[in-house]
Amino acid sequence: MLQYNETPVIPIENDIFKVSKLTILVKREDQNHHLVSGNKWWKLKYNLEEAQRLGHDTLLTFGGAFSNHIFATAAAARDQGFKSIGLIRGEKILPLNTTLSFAESCGMQLHFISRTEYRNKTTPEFKEELRSRFGNFYLIPEGGTNALAVRGCAAFAKEKIAPLKCNYVCLPVGTGGTTAGLVSGLSGPTQIIGFPVLKNGSFLEEEIKTHLKHFSFCNWHLQTEYHFGGYAKTTSVLLEFIHEMEKSNLPLDPVYTGKMVYGIFDLARKGFFPSGSTVLAIHTGGLQTIQ
Ligand SMILES: *Cc1c(COP(=O)(O)O)cnc(C)c1O
Repeated sequence: MLQYNETPVIPIENDIFKVSKLTILVKREDQNHHLVSGNKWWKLKYNLEEAQRLGHDTLLTFGGAFSNHIFATAAAARDQGFKSIGLIRGEKILPLNTTLSFAESCGMQLHFISRTEYRNKTTPEFKEELRSRFGNFYLIPEGGTNALAVRGCAAFAKEKIAPLKCNYVCLPVGTGGTTAGLVSGLSGPTQIIGFPVLKNGSFLEEEIKTHLKHFSFCNWHLQTEYHFGGYAKTTSVLLEFIHEMEKSNLPLDPVYTGKMVYGIFDLARKGFFPSGSTVLAIHTGGLQTIQ
């Protein structure tokens, strides 16, 4: 079992929120583990248990060169005594960046694959090729999103978020796995708002519904206007906002949590949240390479 540290809930004070009597809170889930932090802890939890149960000694997964999932999987594998293999999209660039050199220092074997190969990574032929090349392994998909990851995030929602009884729960969306978990784990009147960090993020609605299988939930929606140009793209407005938040002791990253918290401020300014609401932002992590 990975170590889990209980995480605090802290308020964000701002005049914008005072006007409409909003309580804005942040669940600092980024502090749940010093290396396998944020939503990645919950996405990996049942996957690690399953890999152990099946007697695997190697984890194999995919990601881009800046992937928080690669970072977390490499750390979790070392912590739990697995070997690990990371298939990284694109060409190898030396020196390795912080994410990849950390992964390598955890013993992760890195293999760089072309963008075309990477796109085909879910085909049966490619998986077969991987088996003949690397032998037996427990496969974790890109971003760590699979049914067990969704189950982990649902457990997070039930154990840590439901008792807080907030009107709104907000989080950034990459693949949608974490959002699907929160949606299935939270019942009752709490509304979940996902902030896609990719451009044209409405396709993620279908992805999230797929992860939710045949159940239909109406406790969630996506706000697709806060992508700031697309995945890992940023603007001076966003960077300035992150800088301001840093000064009030809330560290955010420009890929995920910065965009979500910016979105919450903007929605509050526009009167989206009814007066008196409590809004909880999930700090999903992503700080390990920027501090
Ligand atoms: C991976 C990641 C996400 C996205 O999670 P999904 O389950 O893919 O939607 C959000 N925030 C941070 C900090 C992440 O590292």
